[in-house]
Amino acid sequence: MKQNKSIDEIRGEIEEMILDNTEVTNVEFEGPEIAIYTKNINSLISEPNFISQLAKKLRKRVVIRPDVSIRSGKKDVEQIVSQIVSSSVDISTIEFDDALGEVIVEVDHPEKLKGEGIDSVELITKNTGWRPHFYRTPPIESTMIKSIRHILFSETESRKRALKNIGRIINRPTYLKKPIVRMTALGGYLEVGRSSTLLQTGDADILVDCGVSVGYNAPGEYLPRFDLPEFDINALDAVVITHAHLDHSGFVPFLFKYGYRGPVYCTPPTLYFMILLHLDYLDVATKEGKLLPYSRTDVRDVVLHTITLNYSEVTDIAPGVKLTFQNAGHIVGSALAHLHIGNGLHNIMFAHDFRFAPSRILDRAVHKFVRLETLVMESTYGNPEDVVPSRKESEEMLREIIELTLNRDGKVLIPVLAVGRAQELLVIIEDLMLNEKIPEVPIFIDGMIREANAITSAFPEFLSKTLQDEILDKQHNPFLAEFFHNVSDDNTRDEIISGDPCIIFATSGMLAGGPSVKYFTALAEDEKNSLIFVSYQGAGTLGRKVEDGTRDIPLRDDREKTYLLKVKMEVHKISGFTGHSDRGELLEYIKRISPRPKRYVTVHGEETKCKNLAKTIHKMVKREALAPPIGTTVRLV
Ligand SMILES: [Zn+2]
Repeated sequence: MKQNKSIDEIRGEIEEMILDNTEVTNVEFEGPEIAIYTKNINSLISEPNFISQLAKKLRKRVVIRPDVSIRSGKKDVEQIVSQIVSSSVDISTIEFDDALGEVIVEVDHPEKLKGEGIDSVELITKNTGWRPHFYRTPPIESTMIKSIRHILFSETESRKRALKNIGRIINRPTYLKKPIVRMTALGGYLEVGRSSTLLQTGDADILVDCGVSVGYNAPGEYLPRFDLPEFDINALDAVVITHAHLDHSGFVPFLFKYGYRGPVYCTPPTLYFMILLHLDYLDVATKEGKLLPYSRTDVRDVVLHTITLNYSEVTDIAPGVKLTFQNAGHIVGSALAHLHIGNGLHNIMFAHDFRFAPSRILDRAVHKFVRLETLVMESTYGNPEDVVPSRKESEEMLREIIELTLNRDGKVLIPVLAVGRAQELLVIIEDLMLNEKIPEVPIFIDGMIREANAITSAFPEFLSKTLQDEILDKQHNPFLAEFFHNVSDDNTRDEIISGDPCIIFATSGMLAGGPSVKYFTALAEDEKNSLIFVSYQGAGTLGRKVEDGTRDIPLRDDREKTYLLKVKMEVHKISGFTGHSDRGELLEYIKRISPRPKRYVTVHGEETKCKNLAKTIHKMVKREALAPPIGTTVRLV
């Protein structure tokens, strides 16, 4: 049976259905959508049922675009846009995407433009011949958001070409051979790091996550096993990224370096966080004199080929494969990736990093699905002893350590990953300080945390319902608190180190490079200070050594002379803020997930944890549960 229609066949079907006076000038694939260009935009968009009927018939998302000949001049468009929306929102910038005929409008409260009776998108399209796209003005200025939007709107011809090509891949005519679905473990199996799985359906090859192992140097250890015979970059149809952390997204630009030009799917916050982390990865590698695995041009190519999807949006990503993201409760924008293959043939979900408990910034991971046969899930805390204290207990521990340290004139150092734990902890500490539960001292934010806060603030719709209400309805954005001070230069760091009691948030979270190492070495020998680990410390990192109790640490000074750092500061570990499910939450998820999968695959955990969790699942639900090593291919259908 033939699975996909060609663009000519689709054009024919549209012409059959279309009204006489619509003057369709072009029909094109644009990523997962079909774009219909018309000279008579009014007749098409005034007929709301028509578009949904068309989408239903074509089984595709349809977007109507005005033909270039009916577009108004840009000055007029700016005026009309202002007239239509400025009574409800403040406009900060208006830009134009000439290739797609879109006017990009940044406003302070895009949510106010929905559900007010008048449809501003329709009104602007009808009146200007440009389709408006509303973005939120970042409440904290963000260079990353600016530069990514700049790439997307200034290189629109390249972007349009990429979308057309992606559309062709998705809609490639295929003839389903023998139904087959299999997955090959390329990385992140019986280990934490370089997460990557190749999913093959007979018609399509899809890569789910493409991470790097931070802390390892040999290619055989830090990048996914792209050398395995199952992996062929030229056969790859799509890349799906669950979240921005480098162990899940760090090697995406590497694929572009080696010629991949297909789509990358992720949520909107993940795009911005991921690019931020890629560029930082390059900066760090350059500073350390390491061989660069890819260049900034490859990172730019990732931006041009990324298609962002919101939660619950069902999208064709390859012939016979539909992808839906759902909230994973891990970091802002993190997703469970659900793939529906071959019209009911098989459903598989990748629950890579997820937390089945609510946090201050995120709701817990989604556990209800329409269909599900195979569940691939993380095992970071897969052993029976991996029980983390409750959030309430953890917050109380944090409060106590901060209070005691500040009262004895010490400084508190919290090494954090820029994206994830940092935002969670900042919201908690802002709350404690605002309510006078800890002494008021400056809170210094060093490294990329500021930029990550800016991106987080730009996407309140990806935060927990409670925090969303706080930011959107009560106009209280904790990231804008006056206690927070951003740091980016060495002089300020020296002043902080020799200055008064304070709280310092610095990257990296595992003391593996970044400003946190500078603060640590400067503050370690004073017993008044405290170090608080709030996230997982990877094997082989300085963080893991200190966490495990090493107190004499050989280091090199500025003149490359070795000396022994004596750690006398208090070292604490609060694991309750983790973005990962603890053992209890993992088992709760197995109990509650609906429908109950037929097969379970454990990933993202040290060997004993993956194996132990698989054994427990098998005992609990009497279904197949595997903990395969890297290189294994599992036949699913
Ligand atoms: Zn993660």
